[in-house]
Amino acid sequence: MKADTQRSEIATGLSPSQGPLRECPFCRGLERFPVAERSGWNIVECANCQTVFIGNELSYAQQCLQHDWLDDYPKEMARRKAKHPILLFLSRYTRWLRPETNARLLKQTRRWKKGGKLVDFGCGDASFLARASEYFDVTGIELSPRLAAMSRESLPTGRILEGPVTQMAGRELPEGFFDMVTQFGYIEHEWQPVEGLRAAYRVLKPGGVTLIKTPNYASWNRRVMGMDWCGFHIPAHCNYFTPTTLAKMLRLAGFESLPRPLLNRLPTSDSLWMAARKA
Ligand SMILES: [Zn+2]
Repeated sequence: MKADTQRSEIATGLSPSQGPLRECPFCRGLERFPVAERSGWNIVECANCQTVFIGNELSYAQQCLQHDWLDDYPKEMARRKAKHPILLFLSRYTRWLRPETNARLLKQTRRWKKGGKLVDFGCGDASFLARASEYFDVTGIELSPRLAAMSRESLPTGRILEGPVTQMAGRELPEGFFDMVTQFGYIEHEWQPVEGLRAAYRVLKPGGVTLIKTPNYASWNRRVMGMDWCGFHIPAHCNYFTPTTLAKMLRLAGFESLPRPLLNRLPTSDSLWMAARKA
């Protein structure tokens, strides 16, 4: 019955605000305050635990068919360019000043583990994994079939699993096997983030570490830019974390938090970095 409902929603392109109400992904509560609305999508804050999220459900199948990241990302960038051409130009013009993304991701990863077995949740085109494979035995999981195909091309010898992390990790990956689970730009896309973190916990060895990078909802820039903040990709980003709400969710999944270097704690940063350990 549920599968039939999903299929008919895909076929009719039912407006998301008419879709089923989504429980708070942290406490499963239904009481919420409205935060913002764009194109029929409501961002809400849980009245019980302050988690900020998209308040209506979208199935993994709908996400794949209607909101592939390869399509949604350029659409959002075009929308921003039309609205803030100078800001976007400055951001691109100063890009050379910033460390190359995959080099920075690898440096942050190797703060915690120098090598071993690594799985990347939401591996995208696997450009990070290709670089990490110099030090780690790598596996990737990617929901988007087109990105998974790109991953297999950029990493012909690596293992790429295609499908939702919450299903693939449980079905395909052994328990207590990995030294490191990286999640760079994954958890804000995950409709079941607690299940995603529980999957990370399950596949890690005792002493294993997960490292997360996600937009920082507590950043000053979000308050200044409002709905034009770079962390808002609607509906691709369905969870919006502050350091407090992400730490609480990690604890719920069983993790112990790890110290955060000062540079990773600045409210001037649009990115929230957080590492946690399986005891
Ligand atoms: Zn809640």
